[in-house]
Amino acid sequence: MDKFYITTAIDYINGKPHIGHSLEKVAADVLTRFYANKIGRDNVRFVTGTDEHGAKIAQYAEKENLEPQAFADRNSAYFSFAWDQLNLQYDRFVRTTDADHEQTVKDLVTKMKDNGFLYEGEYEGLYCVGHEAFLTDKDLVDGACPDHQTKPELVKEKNWFLKISAFSDKIKTAIEKDELLVWPESRKNEILSLLDQGFTDIAISRPNVKWGIPLPWDESQTIYVWVDALINYYTAADGFWPASAHVIGKDILKFHAVIWPAMLLAADLPLPKAVITHGYLTVDNKKISKSLGNVIDPNDWVAKYGSDAVRYFLLREVPFSDDGDVSEEKLRSRYEGDLANGLGNLVSRITTLVEKNLDGVFPEGTKGFTAPGDEISPLIEQYKFHEALAMIWQYVAWANKTVDENKLWELAKTDLPKFTEVSKQVIDVVEIIAKSLAPFMPETSQKILAAVTADKIVKAEPLFPRIE
Ligand SMILES: [Zn+2]
Repeated sequence: MDKFYITTAIDYINGKPHIGHSLEKVAADVLTRFYANKIGRDNVRFVTGTDEHGAKIAQYAEKENLEPQAFADRNSAYFSFAWDQLNLQYDRFVRTTDADHEQTVKDLVTKMKDNGFLYEGEYEGLYCVGHEAFLTDKDLVDGACPDHQTKPELVKEKNWFLKISAFSDKIKTAIEKDELLVWPESRKNEILSLLDQGFTDIAISRPNVKWGIPLPWDESQTIYVWVDALINYYTAADGFWPASAHVIGKDILKFHAVIWPAMLLAADLPLPKAVITHGYLTVDNKKISKSLGNVIDPNDWVAKYGSDAVRYFLLREVPFSDDGDVSEEKLRSRYEGDLANGLGNLVSRITTLVEKNLDGVFPEGTKGFTAPGDEISPLIEQYKFHEALAMIWQYVAWANKTVDENKLWELAKTDLPKFTEVSKQVIDVVEIIAKSLAPFMPETSQKILAAVTADKIVKAEPLFPRIE
């Protein structure tokens, strides 16, 4: 691998970012830093952004007496701000209202049309504005959208359609052969069975939606917001296409593993290498929702616990592919247990002991610890972030146990050569821990490395101060 291009879903800006939005962004940042360390930062590209068009945004803007663009400018900034607080190293924050994106969208749909894969048709169906998608009768519960508790609108309109049917076999083969990896396996099977059932063509444009990108050859239509949004990955590629991994939530898999590949094939472009799907987070075992009052602003957690702790918590608490529950209580328990009492205490104790008893310097030729090999990288490459962190914490546990069982504070007085050797082993393990943690907890990793690789080791500052 010489290049790695990673994207996250771009968030719809009808509200502010919550903790559920943060998970995949943090995971993408971990992968960015991990591959940067392997192949060089210049060879890695990380793109995130916001999805800003569509009837729903226009409605929200109107409610606040704002122009859609002003509404978009304000709300988009909530997302970029939150990602900066989480210390995400994205290369571009793409907005679907960016001029270069609008041009790319027009160019791509024109190419699909020139290649003969778009046709004009009439569509009659049920449209849920909350979803910005057509629903079928079987999606409804008591005649309403179960996710939005609203009755969908019956619309009959002229649209331009993409011939997805022309590509379903090709897409299916690519997924079966993992040329387009759909991860995890359960999602791959889900999408393959969806393709087996036959996938209907989709409208790529809509009339009467003003807040959108006009179709170049028919300005009475604007481009369907999902088609517009998916193209961001190509707009922002900057020479890195095809994407190495699209990291997304499981609810939008169909758009990424069927519709987007069909769009790319219709425009003669290569398919992405992988669609990596994470589960849903609940808060206190309930779906995150404004009406339930359990929305967590990631900025609040970062302000209180620090970005590294929140990054650690999100990836440690829940296996990435699974649904899982988070809460401040659980974050606090990880903070106090794994971080402050586990890692923080270890670094503080060992640096204090080495400063006090060896004046911070190991004698020339002190034997240290040799790592058994890199056990962490394969887990990160397989998106098993929680296992990677669990493995790193086995090292933390080993090191803390070694300090305790050898009673290093007494050994320093009774057997200085043994103390020196054991302390050196612990310091070496702490260095391995810090290096392995670099993609996950970049600031903590740097602080630890600065402390344990100094010419003269001194007592480290507390890494995880007590939270009131
Ligand atoms: Zn809906």
